[in-house]
Amino acid sequence: HWLCSGGGIVAYADSARAEEAPEPPPRKKKVVVLGTGWAGTSFLKNLDSSRYEVKVISPRNYFAFTPLLPSVTCGTVEARSVVEPIRRMFEKKGKDVAYYEAECFKIDPTKKAVHCRSAVGTNLDGNGDFMLDYDYLVVALGATVNTFNTPGVMEHCHFLKEVEDAQKIRKSVIDCFERASIPNISEEEKRKILHFVIIGGGPTGVEFAAELHDFLVEDLVKLYPAIAQFVKITIIQSGEHILNTFDQRIAVFAESKFQRDGIELSTGFRVIKVSDDSITVKCKSSGVETLVPYGMAIWSAGIGTRPVITDFMNQVGQGKRRALATNEWLRVPECDSVYAIGDCSSISQRKIMEDISTIFKVADKDNSGTLTLKEINDVLEDICIRYPQVELYMKSMHMVDIADLIKGGVGDSNKESMVVNIEEFKKALCHVDSQVKTVPATAQVAAQQGYYLADCFNKKDHCVEHPEGPLRLTGSGEGHHNFRPFRYKHLGQFAPLGGEQAAAELPGDWVSMGHSTQWLWYSVYASKQVSWRTRVLVVSDWTRRFIFGRDSSR
Ligand code: FAD
Ligand code: MG
Ligand code: MG
Ligand code: MG
Ligand code: MG
Repeated sequence: HWLCSGGGIVAYADSARAEEAPEPPPRKKKVVVLGTGWAGTSFLKNLDSSRYEVKVISPRNYFAFTPLLPSVTCGTVEARSVVEPIRRMFEKKGKDVAYYEAECFKIDPTKKAVHCRSAVGTNLDGNGDFMLDYDYLVVALGATVNTFNTPGVMEHCHFLKEVEDAQKIRKSVIDCFERASIPNISEEEKRKILHFVIIGGGPTGVEFAAELHDFLVEDLVKLYPAIAQFVKITIIQSGEHILNTFDQRIAVFAESKFQRDGIELSTGFRVIKVSDDSITVKCKSSGVETLVPYGMAIWSAGIGTRPVITDFMNQVGQGKRRALATNEWLRVPECDSVYAIGDCSSISQRKIMEDISTIFKVADKDNSGTLTLKEINDVLEDICIRYPQVELYMKSMHMVDIADLIKGGVGDSNKESMVVNIEEFKKALCHVDSQVKTVPATAQVAAQQGYYLADCFNKKDHCVEHPEGPLRLTGSGEGHHNFRPFRYKHLGQFAPLGGEQAAAELPGDWVSMGHSTQWLWYSVYASKQVSWRTRVLVVSDWTRRFIFGRDSSR
């Protein structure tokens, strides 16, 4: 085989010049990856690490399967079952990947370096700070909680972001039950201690409420029969409905199930202050403020920016944004070697109207100053790759093909023979950019971005050699990228609702709810586990819970 390959001939030529000093192999480019969550690990798993010198920084030496964190809060699944050690994940990559348990506290794009601090304490010289330089930086730092500066939230509320949070919640739920069981506690006090308040009716808050409710009715009422009647769960949601990123049918189903379960939904209320024993809420319509006594509160009302990201955004002139902006190839536009993926970043989709004159010129091959339908069709695929909003717009307007869209510019002309000038072309496309969509902050997006970016890194050399690529129509300085822009593929989402019921929204406007959906949930989440080890652990946790119930010790 090697005889007919180019490599074989080069090898012969090399051995003929054996006396000459061998050329040193080109230095491998250094890739530094910040974060080992969904985005970071997906990138690392797919990266051909023999091409790069890879260094990974994260203060936690494990990957956490976040969708199962709500189950950890009530002991349905053990914490150990939802984490996978980072070093184990990269075992096969051997010495190609180095991992340091540390926190990055500063990114310096001018020196192309990151400043880090050891997470396991300080070394003998008095500090554990170190610096790493990079050729390419992949920022996958995720997001933090966002309290919207509501007073008291940081001090008094639980969060559900990390594995430790889930463990603390579990301990705290049991604490409430033990506290309320002590003799000489008034009934009013018992009601207060056993009032569990969830602030935020998004998927995490709703799933936690459902888990907690199951834990109560399936396990705790039997163990604490004397106080079971005082237990109450409340969800406070500022919008009119819970689960507002889901299909309306799912929100309605979830709300009626929760009503039957006795979970109280306070929609249209905003939390304005939290003290050690009460939450101040304000009714959005009437403006009336009320005090809600509580025993335990969980804040899951939004995500915020990590300080190191905020600092970096200020350095590159993105100071006013909430998340780090990248182009559609996931690169930070202000730095040619920094990429950002996952919850810490958001893609700013290029608007078609910014490039409309260039597109017109490229399409007008015969320089006639007008475009025929054929000329437009010849570049249509490139347009749709570069500006996905075109397809979304045509879909939203129920247009079958581009001719329908262009007709809007030229009036009632015949499809086949129509010709447009630049003004008509602009007029036809002027509303298309209204369909630009932002991708949500989910594990699904983070994993797809990590996978996509690794693919680009694996093909980088090839693309430097063949810079034209399939895209002729970029007009935005990104033409040397021989890659299609990142495109998110939504595979659907689940909302477990407790009592062995779940709701799911799948591609193609397909909605399913009830017990069978819960079984679909079990099988999807078992199959999504990152290793056979965690898969076995999770499935055996589920089985153990079915047979023996949850463990209620701390
Ligand atoms: P993360 O996964 O948060 O990873 C960030 C990484 O950066 C971590 O390894 C962290 O340790 C590290 N890091 C933090 N600070 C530093 C620093 N200074 N220096 C170096 N490293 C640092 N999404 C779904 O699609 N489906 C679900 O069912 C779902 N359920 C969820 C349930 C819960 C309870 C939560 C909290 C989230 C859920 N999500 C779900 C959302 C999903 O977890 C996030 O969208 C996803 O984790 C984002 O991935 P990421 O890599 O950007 O960030
Ligand atoms: Mg990550
Ligand atoms: Mg994660
Ligand atoms: Mg994002
Ligand atoms: Mg022409």
